[in-house]
Amino acid sequence: MSRIFNFSAGPSTLPEAVLLKAQQELLDWQGTGMSVMEMSHRGKHFMAIAETLKNDLIELLAIPSNYKVLFLQGGASGQFALIPQNILGNKTKACYVNTGAWSTSAIKEATKYCQVQVSASSEANGFTTIPDRDSWQIDQDAAYLHYTSNETIHGVEFFETPNVGDLPLVCDMSSDILSRPEDISQYGLIYAGTQKNMGPSGVTVVIVREDILGLANPQVPAVFNYQQQAAADSMLNTPATYNWYLLGLVLQWLKQQGGIAAIEQLNIRKANKLYQAIDQSSLYRNAVDKRYRSRMNVPFVLADSGLDGEFLKLAEQQGLSSLKGHRISGGMRASIYNAMPETGVDALIEFMAEFERTH
Ligand SMILES: *Cc1c(COP(=O)(O)O)cnc(C)c1O
Repeated sequence: MSRIFNFSAGPSTLPEAVLLKAQQELLDWQGTGMSVMEMSHRGKHFMAIAETLKNDLIELLAIPSNYKVLFLQGGASGQFALIPQNILGNKTKACYVNTGAWSTSAIKEATKYCQVQVSASSEANGFTTIPDRDSWQIDQDAAYLHYTSNETIHGVEFFETPNVGDLPLVCDMSSDILSRPEDISQYGLIYAGTQKNMGPSGVTVVIVREDILGLANPQVPAVFNYQQQAAADSMLNTPATYNWYLLGLVLQWLKQQGGIAAIEQLNIRKANKLYQAIDQSSLYRNAVDKRYRSRMNVPFVLADSGLDGEFLKLAEQQGLSSLKGHRISGGMRASIYNAMPETGVDALIEFMAEFERTH
């Protein structure tokens, strides 16, 4: 068996140690004689797994005690619709910042449920930057302000939490949660699909401040009602048990790496060297404003797009997989989440230099 370096944006590479542990425990979890997949979600074994998962996430992100942590289904896209339905309360308007394709999707979905004020947009710049905070048009009567901390397709990332006064700040952190320490207390709600930087697909993490619970539209299905799911420890119905378990293994791995502050240093190093290689070359180019270049997703184009096919083919042959950019942006994209080892980034940089030399 040989494992490749997988640069897929999501579902994405997982730490090998996690896969090995899951393999080892697949048929018999800790002497129970059964797989986690086969356990009742109400039984004591799975309850222990769920408890550890939640506590590890609280510990890693230093989530304050006035927040609820939910593990739901329906993906981040489900949250695009569920957020307005859960937290608008009696308000009719929400503010959104549009920094790329995911923000745009969130806006489109929210428009079904409320009036959306686009407070700022970088669309005219081809989503290569983040509008200065001073230019944002915020209505303090809105129910919340939503932004996307990392645009997975465009490779644009916020490195500072925007200050929006008393408005609850809502953040789609799908592709950079757990990549760096975060002051959770600045947020009303954070959500993330797990298949980017956390684990396999199938779970959506929602971290919500208690004071914005209880505002849900009564027509929201119970399984998507934050308050009801919080009261039921996200087990109002059968959760994605095996995915919770795998997510738990990733969090334990992260703790062994020294937690989020340690992984942040590694992420900075990995991203810096890749951007440096791109900037120093005359074949590759990344158009994103240097202040906001994502540490997680590094899109780049070749000066001659006629070489794209050859680049991808040769990369694949050398065990560097899934570098094709999103169809919206074209070119290439290297997703270098927590689980991508530095050796993978080094191998990519070496390959890129060699490709440039020979083409
Ligand atoms: C992938 C992604 C989504 C969509 O996630 P699903 O779980 O597929 O719905 C939303 N937002 C961001 C930032 C993403 O990267």
